[in-house]
Amino acid sequence: MDTINTDVLIVGAGPTGLSLACQFIRHGVDFVIVERNQGVTPYSKAIGVHARTLEIYEQLGLAERATTEGTIAGKVRMLESGEVLGEVDLSNIGEGLSAYPYMLLLEQSKNEGLLYDYLQSHDKEVLWQTELEGFGQTEAGVTAQVKTSTGKTQVIEAKYLVGCDGPKSKIRHSLGLTFEGSTFERLFYVADVQIDWKFSHDALHVCLARNAVVAFFPMKGKDRYRIVGAFPEGFDKEEGEVLYEEIERRIKEEAEIELDITRVDWFSTYNVHTRHVNRFSEGRCFLAGDAAHIHTPAGGQGMNTGIQDAYNLAWKLACVLKGVAGESMLETYNEERLPNAERLLQTTDRMFNLAAGTNWLVNLIRTTIFPPMAKFILSLDAVKTRFFPLISQIGINYRDGSLSDHSRDSDFEVKAGDRLPYLLIDGKSIYDRLREARFHLLTFSDGESDYRTSREEVEKEYAELLDYHVIPLYPHVADIFGTSKPFNVLLRPDNYIGFISQEMTVSRVRLYLNEVIGFTAT
Ligand SMILES: Cc1cc2nc3c(=O)[nH]c(=O)nc-3n(C[C@H](O)[C@H](O)[C@H](O)COP(=O)(O)OP(=O)(O)OC[C@H]3O[C@@H](n4cnc5c(N)ncnc54)[C@H](O)[C@@H]3O)c2cc1C
Repeated sequence: MDTINTDVLIVGAGPTGLSLACQFIRHGVDFVIVERNQGVTPYSKAIGVHARTLEIYEQLGLAERATTEGTIAGKVRMLESGEVLGEVDLSNIGEGLSAYPYMLLLEQSKNEGLLYDYLQSHDKEVLWQTELEGFGQTEAGVTAQVKTSTGKTQVIEAKYLVGCDGPKSKIRHSLGLTFEGSTFERLFYVADVQIDWKFSHDALHVCLARNAVVAFFPMKGKDRYRIVGAFPEGFDKEEGEVLYEEIERRIKEEAEIELDITRVDWFSTYNVHTRHVNRFSEGRCFLAGDAAHIHTPAGGQGMNTGIQDAYNLAWKLACVLKGVAGESMLETYNEERLPNAERLLQTTDRMFNLAAGTNWLVNLIRTTIFPPMAKFILSLDAVKTRFFPLISQIGINYRDGSLSDHSRDSDFEVKAGDRLPYLLIDGKSIYDRLREARFHLLTFSDGESDYRTSREEVEKEYAELLDYHVIPLYPHVADIFGTSKPFNVLLRPDNYIGFISQEMTVSRVRLYLNEVIGFTAT
């Protein structure tokens, strides 16, 4: 068999690998993606899709289909012993912060389907039933051996390798990277079912049981729910050994609710781990998604985080492969995504312990103090502006990274390293203008100051790299950024801020693109 040559070999076509492939299509990067399974997952697995993921889908033109196929997590109804303790509305909790101010419930199988369709509509294909067997790297590239669907060994030569090969990642093992952390003692279950009960289908139901929380997430389809809960400590069966009947018995015992489960579409049991790698890359090989971090299901962060790892890595590899950025740019993937994984594990552990902990104080808060307070707490602006950015992942920032130039941002509320805030300009989202996979320079203009000369110079010098946009400095924009004077924002291709400054000269742009990004004209 002839050797296949490509720029990037992606191993694994879960949500992370498929997202990376889609981003490479946007950036015009040549790649090959291999997957040992024969198609996208048929299982629902992850169901929470957050605002930041939907913003990324929007750039791919997939957000509308995702929102049509999914269900918005509207109300949360808290139950105890079958009685309603309280109800809160989450359907617009992030109002003004994103075009998607909610959590969307859409199964992983459907997310993978969306991404796979995007790939196919751009004449790309996954090499299904193709398993990575081994690989080696030199300073010049990576050579991998894969076993194809016919059982033969195929050699693939690539400039870079990205392991999106899930929690048991062979690539992570081969690179000798560590995966430290812990495994939660209790065994968890998940079941997608149809339920006959007295509650309406428009809410996420959370049952505050003695020993754990049992949650019912509404899914598309008549009376369909995803149920998530845990077996008690000391339960002696392993993953995969539990019969469905035991799960149903457990749900009824814990939730203390009268219900009939009339159909079971899928169920599974799983151990919850919280672990992350010590580094996201080694030489020309990178890790993304569950291969690099796994955590508790609290907050539904796993799939979303993998999609964002891919989003962060794709533009950096694209810049380096096109020769418009220096190799050192690739270091910033680890620099930005490792601290994010560390923070994520801490947050999900905290949320999880509150939901599943058996500690008496936590239990008291969970079952007695929290429910009556919930409505009040959720109505507080501080909770909306902190809780939503955290869960939805729009609040992730890279302020401490070396791609964030803070030299002129001290006067602004928004800093280098932040995601560009969601703004409505003349009734339309600012993100509508930012779909091209390029850097963007935004001039927020008061209509009086002259930016025309610098614009011409910037457009001439950086034609291959950057789009220029002039945006009126409306009062609501000035409020968000904390200044009423005109200013420039340089956005990276992932819509994170590289620099923000009142200095509107071409030399300011040069300083960032040439010195921080390492741009050299091709
Ligand atoms: C029950 C359950 C509920 C969950 N709920 C949520 C939720 O609500 N929200 C959320 O965000 N996350 C959730 N998660 C986590 C989510 O499913 C994972 O985070 C997500 O699947 C990670 O995607 P990935 O692409 O990184 O890895 P995976 O989905 O594991 O994909 C890795 C792929 O690599 C392939 N592969 C592995 N080795 C090789 C090889 N050597 N050669 C070729 N191919 C290979 C595998 O076959 C697989 O298809 C849940 C997980 C489970 C199990």
